Amino acid sequence: MPLAALPVERDFQDLLDAAERLPELFGQLAAEGLPAMVEGDDFPESTLRRLHAWAVLEYRAALRLLRHADVAHATEVLLRGLLEFYSHVAWIHEGLPGDTRAPKTRATCLELGIATEANTTLTQKLAGWGAPDPRVHAAAAQRLQDIQAVHVAEGCTCKGHAYRDVQPMLKHLESAGINWPYGLWVVSSAAAHQLLPGRVEIDLGDRTSDFLTIATYTWRASLLSYVVRAYGLAGVRMLDMVNSHNVARFHQSIEQLVADVRMTDALEEKFDHRAFGEMDKLARALREVE
Ligand SMILES: [Zn+2]
Repeated sequence: MPLAALPVERDFQDLLDAAERLPELFGQLAAEGLPAMVEGDDFPESTLRRLHAWAVLEYRAALRLLRHADVAHATEVLLRGLLEFYSHVAWIHEGLPGDTRAPKTRATCLELGIATEANTTLTQKLAGWGAPDPRVHAAAAQRLQDIQAVHVAEGCTCKGHAYRDVQPMLKHLESAGINWPYGLWVVSSAAAHQLLPGRVEIDLGDRTSDFLTIATYTWRASLLSYVVRAYGLAGVRMLDMVNSHNVARFHQSIEQLVADVRMTDALEEKFDHRAFGEMDKLARALREVE
């Protein structure tokens, strides 16, 4: 019996619709009262815009996975990317303790890390794939040269902020009392590394097990709340850097979504109970028709 037939599923889809509107709201709040376009290499704005463009794809993809109970578990893999986005944004925003550089400078450090990684990938790691368009190489090399100049002009001598720098920032947030991102990053990394097949394994009680691919509402809601928080709280920090008078409004929208009664009901297993009841009712109605 398809879940789509159940009222409880429609309620959950409505909740996902509400979550799907967040990036649009963010875009409005970030642009409100500002000139239409930020100059190409204004930092940290351009870096945040680029990070955000990629993160929105992951955010929307996560919501689409959560719409379907048969693939919803895979959202856990996408969460890793969103948490790394959150970590990069938080690092640009506040840095690690003792870092006296401005967000503008740290944005160029991250750009340097991105450009360096792009060049390494193009010149080494993708070599086995055959020769890509040489213009891609040229553009990446030029980008690296340009960003090196910008970075030096900022007075920084670091080698660039790289993917391995995500973990120290998440650990710092944890020590500052924001403890969910690091733990979740560890779990989602394990999922991406294929180390959590037990996630979908169920004990049948007779010394055998089976694999449950349909995610419960409780599980889907839990993932949803983290997807919203990872994206949303990065958004709050970005607004604080680009359009700070709208921070409170965006923060409120995140809180409303996380505290939405559909979210809390689903988290408290009420949606799963509803689903069983509704399926039972449907089955009885079908039997009566026969
Ligand atoms: Zn630097």
